[in-house]
Amino acid sequence: MLPRMQRLIVTLDGPAGSGKSTVARRLAARLGLDFLDTGAMYRGLTAQALARGIDVQKEGPLLVELVRHVEVRFDWAADPPRLLVDGKDLTDRLRDRDVTDAVSAVSAEPAVRDVLVESQRRIGREHPGLVTEGRDQGSVVFPDAELKFYLDASSQVRAKRRAGQLRELGKPFDLESIRQSIVARDHADSTRKFGPLICPDDADKIDTSPMTLDEVVEYIEAKVRPHLDAPAEESPR
Ligand code: C5P
Repeated sequence: MLPRMQRLIVTLDGPAGSGKSTVARRLAARLGLDFLDTGAMYRGLTAQALARGIDVQKEGPLLVELVRHVEVRFDWAADPPRLLVDGKDLTDRLRDRDVTDAVSAVSAEPAVRDVLVESQRRIGREHPGLVTEGRDQGSVVFPDAELKFYLDASSQVRAKRRAGQLRELGKPFDLESIRQSIVARDHADSTRKFGPLICPDDADKIDTSPMTLDEVVEYIEAKVRPHLDAPAEESPR
């Protein structure tokens, strides 16, 4: 683990299905850092909105009310951390189709982003050695992060990766409908006004299409490790 005062934030941004979660989780485990899945926070809030019967496309004010009163947090004692909404573990609900289809409408709401961005910055202060992944981690949440990466891949490759995960879980899937859902989410996430998906200018952009996710992990690990091994006094405080 990092010496107490040393801070190292590694951001991984990119579109749906680019492998960010898998890569961030494996990278964090290999480097002894904590791993933050910010998509899980937007998904947890979405699951809660659906449970309350909120129409996420039409009832923005109810979403604002919800995010102001609900507690979205991680149980860091679990590995990987579990996502709790008002104390209830919603982790197994996060990847359900109805949540995936509704999440972009929830994450486009500025008040939702304000609250979750602030929570993510607090997590960054409490976990100074952090690999964090999402859409806006390098651009908005941690603009001063020491290392920024942006993972991309063609929609076809990303759909195949998602299909592979579903196959492993024994769940049914249709490749073309996964691809269409990915393209629709890309569009919604990149065109929204607040915290859109962008590649920060100072990020290392990686086209992962021809790579395995392990190769991506190795590439990023080689870039991050020298920063971990650097003497503490050379690191920003
Ligand atoms: O990464 P994941 O697919 O779990 O993200 C789910 C959704 O959450 C995204 O499609 C996006 O709408 C939203 N999101 C976001 N900002 C982040 C992470 C996720 O808007 N930092």
